Amino acid sequence: MALRFYNTLTRSMQEFRPITEGKVLIYVCGPTVYNLIHIGNARPMIVFDTLRRYLTYKGYDVNYVSNFTDVDDKIIKRANEEGVTASEISTKYIDETKKDMASLNVLPATTHPLATQEIPEMIELIRDLENRGFAYNVNGTVYFRTRKDKNYGKLSHKNLDELRSGFRDLKVSGEGQKEDPLDFVLWKPMKPGEPYWDSPWGKGRPGWHTECCVMSRKYLHSTTIDIHAGGEDLIFPHHENEIAQVECSTGKEFAHYWLHNAFLNINNEKMSKSLGNFLTVRDVEKKYDPQVLRFFMLSAHYRRVLNFTETSMEAAKASLGRIRTAVRTLNDRMENAVSQELTAEERARLGRDENGKPVPFEVKHDPETGAEILPDDMRLFRWQFEQAMDDDLNTADAESAIFNLVKFANVEVTEKSSRAFAGAVKKEITDLSDILGLIVDVQDEDLDAEIERKIEERQAARKAKDFAKADAIRDELLAEGIVLKDTRDGVRWERK
Ligand code: AMP
Ligand code: ZN
Repeated sequence: MALRFYNTLTRSMQEFRPITEGKVLIYVCGPTVYNLIHIGNARPMIVFDTLRRYLTYKGYDVNYVSNFTDVDDKIIKRANEEGVTASEISTKYIDETKKDMASLNVLPATTHPLATQEIPEMIELIRDLENRGFAYNVNGTVYFRTRKDKNYGKLSHKNLDELRSGFRDLKVSGEGQKEDPLDFVLWKPMKPGEPYWDSPWGKGRPGWHTECCVMSRKYLHSTTIDIHAGGEDLIFPHHENEIAQVECSTGKEFAHYWLHNAFLNINNEKMSKSLGNFLTVRDVEKKYDPQVLRFFMLSAHYRRVLNFTETSMEAAKASLGRIRTAVRTLNDRMENAVSQELTAEERARLGRDENGKPVPFEVKHDPETGAEILPDDMRLFRWQFEQAMDDDLNTADAESAIFNLVKFANVEVTEKSSRAFAGAVKKEITDLSDILGLIVDVQDEDLDAEIERKIEERQAARKAKDFAKADAIRDELLAEGIVLKDTRDGVRWERK
């Protein structure tokens, strides 16, 4: 199967064909930085980082750009509340967001542009739209003239007349000066105490939609890009308004594929501050390894609503633990293997020929029923994994393929296996997990589990009044650099 995506623009599944063979240009709308990111913000980060990893795995050279919106009403409000400048707030939260991304194993983008660093280009775009008759200035506010754009609404597939009549009832200040209720702001005039830039329309700052139009094409070095992505709340108006500006200015298509992730809910409710069910990535990290959160985010297809609950996180923790335990066992098997080289039988189980080279994976069909006949060896799981990922990034099924591989490992690799066999199976698990950004070969956790086990053994010895044994275990741990502390909450330990 060829790689295909569901394109919001065409509302259909489409085979992926990049503009330039072997290269992919992706832009993902990043967060507005006025707060620690919440777990909803983490969903597009994880999903599209996984898309990027998969495209790289498929051999594409990927240029991945994701911005930080560092000038915005919410940033200014927060700065005023704290009595600091807007740029102090945005700098702080860009830093914090990058830390969260790192802990979620989200790779840094090729470029992370900042809106405030690109203002001259935004002014240039707005000027161009004005010159073409697509923008007009009313007292220092510049609007986009939606009625002149015959394609306006093509992404969101909305009924614009209904939207217009809906807007007519809104008593929003400033609405009266617009030619059309759907016209949106390209440049807004400065209010006292706000950051501003000089422009042909006076002091002010650009509207949000204009930022992405400029930053995407500038850092992807192309008028048209391959993939533009973000959460589904961005389809309208944000992405619709981006398309309007770029396409009315360049006369060319802005992006070929528009990918949108569905929302993350908490206990079946929308996450919101007023409901008090708002969780930051940091909150979740107090209880869970961030890798558990990543595993959980990928356990559903990205276009399905995902529900964050304690139960689903516990399930994700157990599942990730299962993969990690399998890898740990494979490490043991490698260490204690009685032989080094693959046997003929093991080679066959891996799907390799006499020289150890993989045999090409071929799907045959039953001549009578036409049913698929799949090779029965380890190559099957990578095939299942790729089938899932090619099918609009079905990470849920890709995780299942890894589980099938884990089952294979648990059954087929025994204490009689060669070191090479255990090693090949382990590498397959770590390679596939790595495409999902999941870290499954965790030495420290191994050690931690072993320490916990010894502490329990010592506690049992103490209970049985076998103090000699308890002391011996304490000394043994001390020799490994582990110090035990008896506290009111039980035994704690730390590395010296
Ligand atoms: P914002 O900072 O609100 O512009 O959001 C940054 C990104 O996070 C955008 O792609 C949003 O669509 C996405 N996002 C915000 N909330 C959620 C949520 N609850 N679930 C999934 N994605 C979200
Ligand atoms: Zn954007």
